[in-house]
Order: sequence, then structure tokens, then C-alpha cells
Amino acid sequence: MKVVETIDEMRQLRQRLAEPVGLVPTMGYLHEGHLSLVRQARVENQSLVVSIFVNPTQFGPQEDFKQYPHNPQRDLALLEKDKTDIVFMPSTDEMYPPQFSSWVEIEKVTERLEGASRPGHFRGVATVVAKLFNIVQPTRAYFGQKDAQQAVVIKKMVADLNMNVEIVILPTVREPDGLAISSRNIYLNPEERQAATVVYQALCLAQELWSQGETNAQTIRQQMTDLIPKKPLATIDYVSVADAETLQELDKVESPALVSLAVKIGRTRLIDNVVL
Ligand code: AMP
Repeated sequence: MKVVETIDEMRQLRQRLAEPVGLVPTMGYLHEGHLSLVRQARVENQSLVVSIFVNPTQFGPQEDFKQYPHNPQRDLALLEKDKTDIVFMPSTDEMYPPQFSSWVEIEKVTERLEGASRPGHFRGVATVVAKLFNIVQPTRAYFGQKDAQQAVVIKKMVADLNMNVEIVILPTVREPDGLAISSRNIYLNPEERQAATVVYQALCLAQELWSQGETNAQTIRQQMTDLIPKKPLATIDYVSVADAETLQELDKVESPALVSLAVKIGRTRLIDNVVL
């Protein structure tokens, strides 16, 4: 496994990689969710590149960029075990030199949900992913359904800008009690960790209502909204039942619909979703 810190070296090594090349972009502090992408990419490609880069431009000024957890040594050991060929770990300056001034903006699908709660977030995500695609030139790139809107945004970017890469979206990996695995779960103290189970419970409630024949999206949103504050530490940012492609809120649920929510547990903001 080669650990590469510069764009030049990454480009040179890329030329010698056997095709097809899989890329898994991450912000590090790897967990089973990331590793499910790594393992699938390993199986489907001759060469595997994993990037680790905590992208400052996708964090808002009040967000956790400075505290974002990291443990590169552990990450590298995990990636070595899963037979990664190249780990691309650039510095912030390498990716954003002082004169940097170009941005990728995806309209419409970025307006709501995470885009509304985190202004500028998807501009940062789209820009860094476009840069990674240009640097690594992967055949396929792997993303998690956990970040459902991100998956929609990346697919839209690739289609609109004719990027020559296949986007693969893989299911959300969960803890035994349903909590979606996230690097940010370590911010939760034991009491908050317990309260965090309400996020998946609310999604299960939506699934249950839908499977019982409920097609009124507002009824589903309302029932979820009523459930969440029953855990004293949980406050709702948004609860959404939207078209899975356009992310527009629905009146009547028609499959595939994306049920997604953002909930603050204490000071930690968690997101999760299911597709009906
Ligand atoms: P991050 O390091 O948080 O930027 O995540 C890197 C990639 O891993 C993204 O495509 C995420 O959607 C994906 N990911 C994060 N958590 C999970 C999870 N629990 N299950 C599946 N994929 C995940």
C-alpha cells in the first residue's frame, strides 16, 4: 500500500494502475460504513484508491471542522488490511493553495434539507469530489446512502458535467440498535447515545406506516415529528418525505420516496434516511 500526499505523485502512480480503478473518498476516522465501501470497491476493481481528506470548504464557520476526529495510523492499518493500493492523503494547502478560486455549484437538489441547514456545504462537497475525480480519474467512485442528498448531488454533478466515472451508492451500515454508524457518533455521551436510537426509530415508524398503506406524506412527517421529542435530548432540525431524485417534498408518497431527517442529540447533529 502506498501513502501519497501530493497531487503530482498521485497522478504519476495513477498512470501505472491496472484498470478498472475504484475510488472511495472519505474524511478518515474510518468505521464499518467506510469499510463496506472499501471492500465492495476492492471486489469490483483491479486497483483501489482511498482518499482521506477532511475538506474544510464543506464545513460552516460554526461547525466541527477543527474538532473533526482523526486517527491516521489506525485508518492506514485498516486500509492495509482491506488491500488498498493507494491512500491519497493531501494536506489542505495541497488541495486549496492560497490562490484557489474555482467552485462547483449544483443547483436545485442542493437547496433543501442539508443544503438549507448547512449553507455552502454542497459547494464544498461538489468541488472537492470534482477535484478528486480529476486527480485520481477513477473508473468507479463509491459513496454511502447514509448521506442520501450527497449521493443525489454527486450523481447530478457527474451527469450534468459529463464526468467519466460510474457512481456506486451502497447501503447504510448500522449499529445493532439501528443507529447509522458515523464518525460523529463519538461525540455522544452514554445518555445521548441512548437517545440517538430515536433517529432510526422514527425512520422505522415511517416504513411501518407506509407498509400499512399510509400514502399521506404529511401524516408520516407528523408522526415522526411527534415521536422524536419523546427522547428529552433530541431536537428536530428537519423531517422530510421527498421525491428520491428531485428531493422535492411530496404530498402523496409514491415509491421511491426518500424519508430523511436531521436531529440534534445534545450538541451533536445526526442525519439518517430510508427509501420507501
Ligand atoms: P465521510 O468520511 O463521513 O465523508 O464518509 C465517507 C463516505 O462513507 C461517504 O460516501 C459516506 O456516505 C459513507 N458513509 C459514512 N457512514 C456510512 C455508513 N454508516 N454506511 C455506509 N456508508 C457510510
